[in-house]
Amino acid sequence: MSFDSLGLSDHLLRAVQAQGYDAPTAIQQRSIPHITAGADLAAEAQTGSGKTAAFVLPILQKMASHRGELTPIKIGVLTITPTRELALQIAETFKLLGQFADPPPRVVSIIGGLSLGDQISALSSGADIVVATPGRLLDLMEREAIDINHVHTLVLDEADKLLDVGFNDELTVLLNALPTQRQNLLFSATLPQKVLKLSARVLNNPTVLRIDEQRTSVATIEQRAYQVERDDRRLLLQHLLETEHWGQTLVFVATQIGATNLARKLRVDGFLATELHGGLEQPDRIFALTRFRSGRAQIMVATDIAARGIDIPLLGAVVNFDLPRAPADYVHRIGRTGRAGESGVAVTFVDHETEDHLRLIEKKNQLMLTRRQVLGFEISDAPAEKTKGLGPKKGKRKSKKDKLRERQ
Ligand code: AMP
Repeated sequence: MSFDSLGLSDHLLRAVQAQGYDAPTAIQQRSIPHITAGADLAAEAQTGSGKTAAFVLPILQKMASHRGELTPIKIGVLTITPTRELALQIAETFKLLGQFADPPPRVVSIIGGLSLGDQISALSSGADIVVATPGRLLDLMEREAIDINHVHTLVLDEADKLLDVGFNDELTVLLNALPTQRQNLLFSATLPQKVLKLSARVLNNPTVLRIDEQRTSVATIEQRAYQVERDDRRLLLQHLLETEHWGQTLVFVATQIGATNLARKLRVDGFLATELHGGLEQPDRIFALTRFRSGRAQIMVATDIAARGIDIPLLGAVVNFDLPRAPADYVHRIGRTGRAGESGVAVTFVDHETEDHLRLIEKKNQLMLTRRQVLGFEISDAPAEKTKGLGPKKGKRKSKKDKLRERQ
């Protein structure tokens, strides 16, 4: 299928070509006709599937067909997303794909961490499209600095994460403040019950699309689990970075402080490492991402929430330095490598403490990762009380370990 057959205006076809998109992705093929026809939509689609353009293109298409009415500029499109980086990325996509429209749409990002005054003044010069994180948007609504009474299209992007990070109350306030006559589009990496409940609340007779691309992309990723003592993880990581030449590597940790400490230690040892987490000021987050995207930083140490949805092409490897809490996040994390047919490596560190949790992650994702060890970073035998009465006897464990060693 080609973009031509989706009935997009010439200026959009030109923009798509300028971006080097040859053909629409699966989510684009399926969502564009629904959205241009004005239907509400709930779509399960991951970052990397082309989901941003899947709503940006038809929204711009609809805006183009309403042109010529000479109405004053009013916010017609509101996109809500959980993270600041994602908001900036979506705003950029609206601008890039709308650049050949006449006139191009005015796009404003409303996110925390950047100057409130600048955002208020950007809004007062007129915006057609606003891309916002919920907190700052509500702040502006309370200050009556934003008029959302003319919103005809609402997009909730990464809806599962919006709920996970506790934006439910903010969404309720926002939904109550919006005009009732509007088109609603919901995109989510997963569609668990709570997201379906939200879509039932927000959407009218929605078309539900599930694009099962995750599995195929995961198939191109080489997944490895390394057994390593907790305290040896950094040295093993450094050893792997030095010997495996992965190129750009995203390292996931559980906490902000963990990200800062690990990135700092890597830098001390001569690695070009940067960090991305919710504790950073917005300019620092942008700086970190820019350094990583441009290749000036080889390694980015990130927490899940900060890394959600950000688009970093061609990652060589993803490392689960800490295991993700939610099993579904394992797939989201490793999906950051091996994109678009490229092969990638996903490495997971595990020790006796985290073994059970990794097993749960494997079970939920129908995976079986072979445990391996690296010479010089071997894990000790499991503590006696953990194995008591459960798994194999200690003597047997040893021979298993020896077997693992032999495989190296
Ligand atoms: P997303 O899933 O929206 O984060 O998009 C992931 C990446 O795919 C972005 O870098 C887009 O620019 C790119 N992209 C989106 N649509 C297409 C397409 N039809 N062909 C090739 N790349 C695309």
